[in-house]
This record gives sequence, C-alpha cells and structure tokens, in this order.
Amino acid sequence: MASNKSLLKTVFFSEILQGLRLTIKHLFKGKVITQQYPHTKPNLPDGWRGAIVHLRYDDGTEKCVGCALCEAACPSHCITVISAERPDLPQKRIAETYILDMTKCVFCGFCVQACPVTALAASKEYELATTDKRKLVMTKDTMLTLGDKYFPVREKRPVYSDAKINLYEKLKAQNFPHVKKGEA
Ligand code: SF4
Ligand code: SF4
Repeated sequence: MASNKSLLKTVFFSEILQGLRLTIKHLFKGKVITQQYPHTKPNLPDGWRGAIVHLRYDDGTEKCVGCALCEAACPSHCITVISAERPDLPQKRIAETYILDMTKCVFCGFCVQACPVTALAASKEYELATTDKRKLVMTKDTMLTLGDKYFPVREKRPVYSDAKINLYEKLKAQNFPHVKKGEA
C-alpha cells in the first residue's frame, strides 16, 4: 500500500507541485525575502568567524608577544611567527614577522582561543574573493589594520613595573640561571 502511494506521488510529481505552490504563494505576496547582496549587507551575528585580525592596546601598541602558540594550535599550518625582543621593553617580545595564509585557513578559531594575551580575534570581514591569491597571504600590518577597523574599542595596556624590568635585566646579566621560588 505504501509503495502504491509513493508510486502515485512519483507519477503526479506531487513534491514538485507542493514546491511550486509555495513559490507562487510568496511570488504574489509582494514581500521580498531574498537579500539584495551586495547592495544590502547581511547583519552578521556577533559570533561570526571571518578573517582573523590582530588587536592593539589603547595606546596603539600591538598585543601580540610573539609566543607562537597560535602557530602551534592551527590545524591548517597557515600561521608563521618569528619573534624578537622589544627594543623599548627587553622583558617583552613581539612577533617580528607574522604571516597568516588565508588560502589555507578554515576559520576554526583555534588560534584565537590559544592566544594567551587575546591578541587575535575573528572579525566580520567576509568579502575575501580575489583573482590574486597572493593577496590572501596576510602580514601583521594588514591584520592590525583590519583589527583597527573591526575592533575600535581597545583594552587598556597593562603597566610594567620598574621592579619587574630590573629583575629581568639582573637575570639576563646572569644568563637566566635557574631561580628557586622566593629567591629572586
Ligand atoms: S582560524 Fe583555524 S585555520 Fe585559521 S588561522 Fe586560526 S587556527 Fe588556523
Ligand atoms: S597572536 Fe597570540 S598566540 Fe599568536 S604569537 Fe601573538 S601572542 Fe602568541
């Protein structure tokens, strides 16, 4: 009996007719439900994961400390970090070179979660189509510019005390000996 029913449905194209009925119903309603992209931009949710960007502190300094944890966390191996000491704050490091190859990125957000100083964020930048894939290899400067665009509200930069910098200099002069807790 069931097979007879499905045979009749197939012969009379009932699913197609149901679909057409729905289309015609909306056709004469006069209400446009198709988004007229690119003239109308979609209203993306806050959790949207578009291009990965770099963030700055309120004084304009970049947050990244060049630790390369994002590189280790990336399942697509699309991040390359080369770190160096910051000339003005030898206690701190920066990413001297930071490259993110967007052609390999799967927008999983693992790099954002791995970053210990929240230097990365997923932006709402989604219009990435290009005929030149070299444009999708993003440098730190490109990522900082996108970060400035999508995250204008910045976190306050933490204050580094002189005591900590002096301790760093002292340990550096001693070639970073093993220090037991409470000895420094
Ligand atoms: S979003 Fe995922 S794939 Fe893309 S750079 Fe980050 S960790 Fe790698
Ligand atoms: S973005 Fe974050 S995780 Fe990646 S190198 Fe910079 S500080 Fe480390």
